[in-house]
Amino acid sequence: MTETSGALLGPAEIRDLAGRLGIRPTKTLGQNFVIDGGTVRKIVRQAGVTAGERVVEVGPGLGSLTLGLLDAGASVVAVEIDPVLARLLPETVAAHLPDVYPDGGDPRLTVVGADALDVTELPGPPPTALVANLPYNVSVPVLLTFLQRFDSIQRVLVMVQAEVADRLAAPPGSRTYGVPSAKVAWYASARRTSTIARTVFWPVPNVDSALVALERRDPPSTTASRQDVFAVVDAAFAQRRKMLRSALAGLAGSPEAATRALLAAGVDPQARGERLDVADFARVAQALAVPS
Ligand code: SAM
Repeated sequence: MTETSGALLGPAEIRDLAGRLGIRPTKTLGQNFVIDGGTVRKIVRQAGVTAGERVVEVGPGLGSLTLGLLDAGASVVAVEIDPVLARLLPETVAAHLPDVYPDGGDPRLTVVGADALDVTELPGPPPTALVANLPYNVSVPVLLTFLQRFDSIQRVLVMVQAEVADRLAAPPGSRTYGVPSAKVAWYASARRTSTIARTVFWPVPNVDSALVALERRDPPSTTASRQDVFAVVDAAFAQRRKMLRSALAGLAGSPEAATRALLAAGVDPQARGERLDVADFARVAQALAVPS
């Protein structure tokens, strides 16, 4: 673990802040706070944050990563569900980085006290990046929701459970390829970049974490809607071991209709969902929409 100095929070300060406020980190909200400045710097570096860029952070907690982002010159909109943490954040930031709240100028930090899954609009300029140490129990829904709702987000760098990172970045055919991999691939290419030891957190979680970098790209070209494509993905993986002609029978109306759509899409009806990439799923959804 590296020394923490300057703008960033170290272990003693995290414990002190939590102690003063009577904060008992809860598992239900995935509250594990980063106490290592080296990890914060790594996240900020890998996110490629530039001065003046607008970044959205989900779950700023006590502010470990928020301070790193602000210190890199970004302007941050931070969405925090815990009202005590949301209230404390501006104070912590003002104490470490007074220039974030200039006299008479626009502050570089805006805090939104809300469940990220309920947020449909963000105040201020549209963010171009999402950078976060995501709450583990909702990491995939938050990621998918933000990619869908905020198309200004071009890059993502998130810390998630190592196992979730594997799934997000898995290619078709791999053991960990599944619903999150295929849905994220609709919006972006994903890469698992680093493994992060559990010891950089307080309290220490019982799993390791990893960083995932996403670059937005165009979705596959198709006349099917995103919802229709995602319905095919969900059905294909609902029973992983089933061949597609059976797995999609419900959606298609019958195994025969599913077989016809799969053949029209150029997909082997005996294949399993784990073999298909997002463009294949899009072609299947399009073929299912055509009355046969
Ligand atoms: N960013 C901080 C850090 O790196 O130390 C804290 C990260 S902690 C893993 C996750 C944070 O997300 C907590 O502060 C928690 O209160 C917050 N959180 C949990 N569920 C949330 C939700 N649905 N919407 C917004 N924030 C949430």
